[in-house]
Amino acid sequence: MLSEVETHAVFNQPPPFEGRNFFTSDRVLGEALAREGAPWAVDELTALGAEAASPDTLELGRLANVNRPELRAFDRFGHRIDVVDYHPAYHELMRTAISNGLHAAPWADPRTGAHVARAAKVLVWYQVEAGHLCPVSMTYSVVPALRHEPALAAQWEPRITSAVYDPTDAPIEAKTGVTCGMALTEKQGGSDVRANTTTGEPDPSEPGLYRLTGHKWFCSAPMSDGFLMLAQTATGLSCFWVPRWCPDGSRNPIRIQRLKDKLGDRSNASSEIELAGVAGRLVGEEGRGVRTIIEMVNHTRLDCVLGATALIRHGFVQASWHATHRSAFGHLLADQPLMTNVLADLALESEAATAAALRLARSYDAAGGDDHERLVQRLLTPVVKFWSCKRAPQHAAEALECLGGNGYVEESPLPRLFRQSPLNGLWEGSGNVICLDVLRAMLREPESLEAFWTEIAPVVGTDARFDAAVASLRASLADVAPIEERARHVVERMALVFEGALLLRHSPGVVADAFCASRLEGGADAVFGALPPSVDARAVLRRNAPWVD
Ligand SMILES: Cc1cc2nc3c(=O)[nH]c(=O)nc-3n(C[C@H](O)[C@H](O)[C@H](O)COP(=O)(O)OP(=O)(O)OC[C@H]3O[C@@H](n4cnc5c(N)ncnc54)[C@H](O)[C@@H]3O)c2cc1C
Repeated sequence: MLSEVETHAVFNQPPPFEGRNFFTSDRVLGEALAREGAPWAVDELTALGAEAASPDTLELGRLANVNRPELRAFDRFGHRIDVVDYHPAYHELMRTAISNGLHAAPWADPRTGAHVARAAKVLVWYQVEAGHLCPVSMTYSVVPALRHEPALAAQWEPRITSAVYDPTDAPIEAKTGVTCGMALTEKQGGSDVRANTTTGEPDPSEPGLYRLTGHKWFCSAPMSDGFLMLAQTATGLSCFWVPRWCPDGSRNPIRIQRLKDKLGDRSNASSEIELAGVAGRLVGEEGRGVRTIIEMVNHTRLDCVLGATALIRHGFVQASWHATHRSAFGHLLADQPLMTNVLADLALESEAATAAALRLARSYDAAGGDDHERLVQRLLTPVVKFWSCKRAPQHAAEALECLGGNGYVEESPLPRLFRQSPLNGLWEGSGNVICLDVLRAMLREPESLEAFWTEIAPVVGTDARFDAAVASLRASLADVAPIEERARHVVERMALVFEGALLLRHSPGVVADAFCASRLEGGADAVFGALPPSVDARAVLRRNAPWVD
């Protein structure tokens, strides 16, 4: 009998991926969490993973994206108010993110592993919706920069670390929790911030107070309560803290010109702003703005790694879920050798990215008191950012294809994931800039390269393919030919050697073998799904997707 529709029965369509705890169904993440120092966070992550997987939460993610934020520059009487209205779903997602400490918990939590625990939570929650994690991430990242001014930090940090999401547009004194942003990029350049033309003039009415005049071409989350901005003073490029509201209760004149119409990241408002003499406080030494802001940059780069890794995990989840519920030519897709190969390769990327992301996060826990960890953080943040962000769009495209036509239709989560996938590669240093930063790190602190070799040392001698990749990388680095034009090649090989070392050390032999065979040996294939026949693809797939038999 025909039911739902008049002309045919509907079958062979997978159920939605819902109700599968995003944390407990990710064995690789659970292992990495324990290994990298935060086993105490399992219960919190289990609860967050369950919430992430609930149909209601997933619907919030959809709603926050189809109902884009809207600018209300003026009130009905013609006064400038520069307010952005968000859909309630966005606020709901922000509330959960902040009550779980994704925005700042490590700054108030003395436990070892606090940055790792937060990183794991970001990996889980980002899979629900990526856009709202932009302000969450910026809030997390401003703290180390703000600490250059102890008085400012004392005033703002208690509200930054508050677990209460308070979206009211009001001076900080009236708020129980705040979020923060950063505005560096100008029309003439984002990578080269030293070309900024915004000026900062001392305001004679108060020591330390400046008036900023100019513009910023990208300012995401313009409803943030405070921003770090760069501006030129008589001494040079300097870093300023710019609150949305002035202490006297007036609006700081941050004029939102318009919101960007973006490829993806649609729940997040990204604006163009003009600064009409806004009040700002100097942070750090005048003329040393880049140096002051660099720690913030590092933390946002870590979050770019987490974002890319979450997209890679979720693309794999959706692809493997679909393929284990859909048949073609009389067999489940996941059981057909070529699809098994594609899925296993997507899983391998996810496992390697997850291991690298959480190892990197550990260096943020320990960097303060441990020189090796500081050097790991310095060198491997850009290395891992480059690679995970470069892999994400390619991975997303392949995952989308596993769903066939369904993956290309907006009702599926894949188009949103695909549109988001290039963004982390752009933020906080796009590919070339990041590779140049790796070269800079090795040049200025050659010990950082020593720290890299120390990291991989435990597995040298355990796999001939790995050893050959290490030898080839050493030769590339020792090559006296100009390195700048080879930087992408070198950084890619560093990332692969680092990931290979982590998998050889911590993952089952089948996974490490698959990685060495497909990423390190000979010329790696450019497409996913070309694992050599010697690899146990099914085992790799099963480990990463508990729904595969
Ligand atoms: C959705 C979104 C939100 C954003 N939000 C914010 C925000 O909140 N705050 C903020 O400050 N910025 C924000 N940005 C801006 C972002 O940080 C910049 O776009 C980025 O830094 C690149 O700067 P640019 O666009 O000026 O490109 P350019 O600096 O002009 O770079 C263009 C290309 O040239 C390459 N390049 C640059 N220098 C070199 C070199 N020396 N050698 C080789 N290649 C080079 C780059 O890698 C890049 O591929 C946002 C961007 C997007 C897309």
